[in-house]
Formats: sequence, C-alpha cells, structure tokens
Amino acid sequence: MATKLPATSHEPLLWDYATSKESTDIVEIDSKYGLFIDGKFRAPKSRKYFPTINPANEEHLADVAEAGPRDIDLAVSAARRAYTDVWGPMSGAERAKYLFRIARMVQERSRELAVLETLDGGKPIKEARDVDLPLVAGHFFYYAGWADKLEYAFPGVSPKPLGVAGQVIPWNFPLMMLAWKVAPALATGNTVVLKPAETTSLTALMFAQIASEAGLPPGVLNIVTGAGRTGAAIVGHDDVDKIAFTGSTAVGKMIQSQLAGTSKRLTLELGGKAAHVVFEDAPLDQAIEGVINGIFFNQGHVCCAGSRLLVQENIHDRFVDKLKRRLATLRVGDPLDKNTDVGAINSRAQLERITELVEVGLSEGAEMFQPDCVLPDRGFYFRPTLFTNVAQSHRIAQEEIFGPVLSILSFRTPDEAVEKANNTPYGLSAGVWTSKGSRILWMADRLKAGVVWANTYNKFDPTSPFGGYKESGFGREGGRHGLLAYMDWGEG
Ligand code: NAP
Ligand code: MG
Repeated sequence: MATKLPATSHEPLLWDYATSKESTDIVEIDSKYGLFIDGKFRAPKSRKYFPTINPANEEHLADVAEAGPRDIDLAVSAARRAYTDVWGPMSGAERAKYLFRIARMVQERSRELAVLETLDGGKPIKEARDVDLPLVAGHFFYYAGWADKLEYAFPGVSPKPLGVAGQVIPWNFPLMMLAWKVAPALATGNTVVLKPAETTSLTALMFAQIASEAGLPPGVLNIVTGAGRTGAAIVGHDDVDKIAFTGSTAVGKMIQSQLAGTSKRLTLELGGKAAHVVFEDAPLDQAIEGVINGIFFNQGHVCCAGSRLLVQENIHDRFVDKLKRRLATLRVGDPLDKNTDVGAINSRAQLERITELVEVGLSEGAEMFQPDCVLPDRGFYFRPTLFTNVAQSHRIAQEEIFGPVLSILSFRTPDEAVEKANNTPYGLSAGVWTSKGSRILWMADRLKAGVVWANTYNKFDPTSPFGGYKESGFGREGGRHGLLAYMDWGEG
C-alpha cells in the first residue's frame, strides 16, 4: 500500500486500496420479466416492456413488463380473492409461518439479493449487503412475530385487516421499502398489489420468486412493474382499500387529492430536508463521522438524509475544515467494489436534478467544495459536495436535493438552532450532537421531526416507528405503530 503526503490542508494521508470487486456470478438475470399476478409471472396485457439499466455503467440489464389498467385489474381481483378466500380467514399463527419462512429465505439468499440491488440501483455493495438486506430480513422476522399477537398489541379492541393494500415505492431502498410495506400488510391479514420504482424493479421480482417458493398462496402478493402511470392506476382502482405510498411530496400531494372523498385509507412517507445540529461540546471526530454518514450514505438518496448541517458558530471553521479533510477520503466509484463509499447516482434524470440544484446553489452565492476525486468514464456519478455561506432562503437550504450534497449553516444559541432546524416545510428526521443529555432532551422536544437521532444518525430498526410531520407525510412504518396503518377496529 502506498501513501501520499498531503499537498493541501484538505488532503489527508491517502491510502491506495486494491480493488475488491464483488462477483456478480451469484445472480442470474432473465432477459425479460413479466408481472407477478396470482402466484405466476405473466406477460402484460399491455404488451409493453421497458428497459432497466445498471446506473454504474449504463449497461442494459433486462426488460421489465409495464402494467396497464387491465393488468392492475387482474392483480387487484387476484388480491381480493386471496383476501376473501384464504389470507383474511387464516389464523395469525398460520400467516406468521409464511412470513418467518420468507424472512429465512431472504437471509439465505441475501448475497444474491444484495448484488442484484447494487446492479440495478447503483448503491455500494457494502451498504446493500450490510444495511439493506439485514433490515429487510429483520422486518419480516419482526412482523411475523406480531401476526398472532395483534389482540395483545392493541388490547380492548378487535383489530381487523383492511382488505387489499395498493403500495407504491421509490428507488432509493428498493427491497427495504418493499419490506416496510409488505411485512406489516401481510402480518395483519391484508393482501398486496405493489409497484416498485421503474429504475429498480429487479429485486422486487426476485422477492416475488422467493414468496412463491415459500408457498405463499397465489394472489396474496402481486408485483406489478411500471412507471408513474401504473402507480396512478393502483391508486385510482375502485377495489383497493388502502394506499401506502413512499416517494416525493409532489406525487404524495397528488395522491392525497386523488383519494379525497373516497373511503380508501392512506399513509404517505414523503421527502425531507433534515437538520443535523452540532453543538460546540459535541465529540467532534464522532460528529464528523455522523455527518458524513448522514449525507453520503446511499449517495444522499435518503429521505431522512442530514442534508442541512447546523454548526455552532464558534466551532464552525474548525468543523468545516475537518469535514473537508474527511470528504477527500471518501471513495467514489464502482458500487460493486467493496471499498466504495459513494456509488452511482440512480438515474440520469436524478443526476440532472442534482446538477441543476448545485448550479442554483452557486448562482445564489454559496461557496462549493468538492474533493478532487476521479469519476468513472461511464455511468452516473456526482462528487461528494458541500456548500458553505448558505442562507436559510437559498434553494439548497430549502429543497430536497436527494444527492450527495450538504448545505452548511451556523447558529449561536440553542433557540436559534431549533428555529433554523424547523424552518422547512418538511419534518421527517433530525440529528443532534452534544455531550449534554439534558440538551438532547430539550432539543428533541422542540424539533418538529418524526425521528430525532442523538449522537448518531441513520439508525434504522424494525422495532422503531419511522414517519413524518408536515410535508414529509403521515402514518408510521416500523414498530407496533406500523401495524396501525393496515388495521381497522371492530367491537372489543
Ligand atoms: P416519486 O417520483 O414520487 O416516485 C415514487 C413512486 O411513485 C415511484 O414508484 C413512481 O413511479 C411512482 N409514481 C410517480 N408518479 C405517480 C403517480 N402520479 N401516482 C402514483 N404513483 C406515482 O419519488 P422518487 O423520485 O422515486 O423518490 C424519491 C422521493 O421519495 C424523495 O422525495 C424521498 O424523500 C422520498 N422517500 C421518502 C421516504 C420516507 O420514508 N419518507 C423513503 C424513501 C424515499 P416511477 O418512479 O417508477 O415512475
Ligand atoms: Mg436499474
């Protein structure tokens, strides 16, 4: 291993790592995928297919069916039949057996699923392998455990399933978002029609194979691939009882108005612009790691990303200097390399959006820093970026960039930190770094965010509820609260 001496104050000692590429031999990708309806893969009635690519090198991976309205009709009727005849009447203990089996099979095939997730979506293999997949299995294990204990979860009432759940998910954590939706829905006795995002359908289709191998009765889970129009057809279908949507605030608002006046239940998990607050008494080196993880994990394609850093004024310059040095050590590039910290941007469209907002930041007068790293020739990549001299009114301080871009602001007093942190239409998450426990509690009381992490960031657990305030949506996923989104109450 060679070391280079630092040339500038922001260039720390750099280690050269040998490439350590994860093999893709473990995954077999079909050239064409149908829709998973009523327990079988079927050609779409629409007769349309669309390509999915690997954003790390722009290579074509497969063609995926686009579900049209007739396909959605078939999927919803299959889900309705399965609900009425099989899954609804089944005891919770029986349903749990299927969910435990699925959880174990996800664990057994986790390397294959992780490699496929990385190939189709561009996230670093170390994250797909060590974060996404364990959490996916964890969600199925956790909700399998609730399936026969629902009466104890909510004593005094008789919880009942809602019926057919239509679920629409985004591309940033494809399999994890599926798990957050499918596990509680099935555990509570609902059946599902789920649409993955257009750019990342492959792991949902592999999951359908797993569910089928686990013996899940036909129709209980239906995976219908497609783009926004397919999602809208699910949302608008008359025989769906509940819609669970994760995605952008703009689409969330459209769905909410589309459902107004209907009896369909709705939960929305939308965007965020989280404040990550660092006080002068924080353990600074640990806070640096937290801030880096907060914004560069999954290329910043994270709804709860700590994208607005608020640093106490008297440590601002020192902290920013440390951050710049740390930024220069991030390894950006091939997501299949086990050393990669920041992988590929999920799509060309997302890369264009990030680029556009970064240009806006520059034109608004903020000061940009990017490390001098070499990006691969092909594929979609963006350098880890931070902005100083950011005003609260700047678009880069208000809008969700959904990429590896951090906007840095400062504050003097805890009150000012709270005021600035809450000065956004969103309210999904926040982070606080301080060595005072009392200050953590004081801040957590005042931050308008569904999740507040203290002296850590981006910690997820199936037992812990997650969800938003304000334009970040409503309803909770995870934990006992996550069951509520899929249940109705009968007489006690
Ligand atoms: P998006 O454009 O809203 O898409 C989300 C999903 O909705 C995709 O499957 C999309 O299809 C589909 N869709 C698009 N238009 C639709 C319509 N009119 N009716 C029904 N479905 C429609 O969001 P995105 O850009 O994929 O995802 C990023 C956003 O998700 C960010 O804002 C992020 O913060 C948010 N997010 C939130 C959470 C959370 O838990 N709060 C978690 C992850 C992500 P196609 O994309 O396939 O066309
Ligand atoms: Mg893809």
